[in-house]
Amino acid sequence: MSENAEPTPPTAPPARPVDSTKPSGGGPLDTLNRPLRDLRISVTDRCNFRCTYCMPKEVFGRDYQFLPRAEILTFEEITRLARLFVAHGVRKIRVTGGEPLLRNDLEKLIAMLARVDGLEDLTLTTNGSLLKPRIHALTQAGLQRVTVSLDSLDNDVFKAMNDVDFPVERVLEGIEAAAEAGLAPVKVNMVVKKGVNDDSVLDMALYFRGTGAIVRFIEYMDVGSSNGWRLDDVVPAAEIVKMINAEMPLEPIAPDYRGEVAQRYRYKDGSGEIGVVASVTQPFCGDCTRARLSADGKLYTCLFATKGHDFRALLRAGKTDEEIAAFLRSVWKVRDDRYSELRATATPGLSKVEMSYVGG
Ligand code: SAM
Ligand code: SF4
Ligand code: SF4
Repeated sequence: MSENAEPTPPTAPPARPVDSTKPSGGGPLDTLNRPLRDLRISVTDRCNFRCTYCMPKEVFGRDYQFLPRAEILTFEEITRLARLFVAHGVRKIRVTGGEPLLRNDLEKLIAMLARVDGLEDLTLTTNGSLLKPRIHALTQAGLQRVTVSLDSLDNDVFKAMNDVDFPVERVLEGIEAAAEAGLAPVKVNMVVKKGVNDDSVLDMALYFRGTGAIVRFIEYMDVGSSNGWRLDDVVPAAEIVKMINAEMPLEPIAPDYRGEVAQRYRYKDGSGEIGVVASVTQPFCGDCTRARLSADGKLYTCLFATKGHDFRALLRAGKTDEEIAAFLRSVWKVRDDRYSELRATATPGLSKVEMSYVGG
């Protein structure tokens, strides 16, 4: 039963704030005047899940060739690059994958990144399956926040989506452990796919309302080339907001910072907040300040890029910091990516990189 017989639909979210285009620290601007602010670092392309929208079993099967160990950046190499990126404007680093907790001794890397001068935010995105036993080591190492992915509270639906029979309960334990360890607010990512888990949207909103966790409902995206994406499978974010608002009235709130991916809403009764990531139906390329570093050291300036820039080659050729920094500036200055805004006219059949490789 709804709390309001006739809920008022929330108005459009407020415009994203436009801050100065002059990045602090003298970082470069791209061709669309966007500074470099966020770096997502993929520490492995492997995962213990086979989410159907990300690493479908038919493609990522037994014979799939993951990156050999020697090709993966060491913690020292990652940290050296992180330092250079922070000197060029990066303020936030998200460690991701694949499943980042599959990387041995990840806590060591977190501790090394936490010591990078000028970094303001250090976060981790994980499927939560291995989180609980690691949470104290991670927080002690300096991890500031965590995002845990969970696509449904219904075991049958969740197991069908992760495709390795992994139960909801264990992910919930990871989320609780993170909150108890002080990594609040924990963000919970739910990718919504029509006819698969759209029935779980309200349950998820209800379950996490009042807990302090922030669920972010993500439109199913056409990343990579293997998930068989169709526009018909996307549940528009506006529909998700409408669905939740009908039961638990919402109002939009301003983004925290320029380039924030999620549109934010809070429950009118003060019981918490949700986010929606409308990358398909309301692209936000204009404010995209993100770059992604793959586990083998290639930099991708867009999630939908077809080609990366090889930083590992420079690191392993003994280049100086200044030479690597010059390469970074040259890459960012010519960046003109805005795939989501151009999606309708994008060339079909282009071989885009997989999200498990480039880092979600
Ligand atoms: N394995 C970790 C996890 O699942 O949280 C980190 C990597 S995963 C690639 C990062 C995020 O990307 C997850 O929240 C996942 O749900 C999301 N994701 C993966 N494929 C997606 C797709 N096709 N559309 C939208 N989001 C996707
Ligand atoms: Fe693994 Fe995350 Fe991709 Fe799922 S979304 S297959 S957990 S990398
Ligand atoms: Fe950024 Fe590319 Fe996504 Fe646009 S499509 S928001 S440029 S990552």
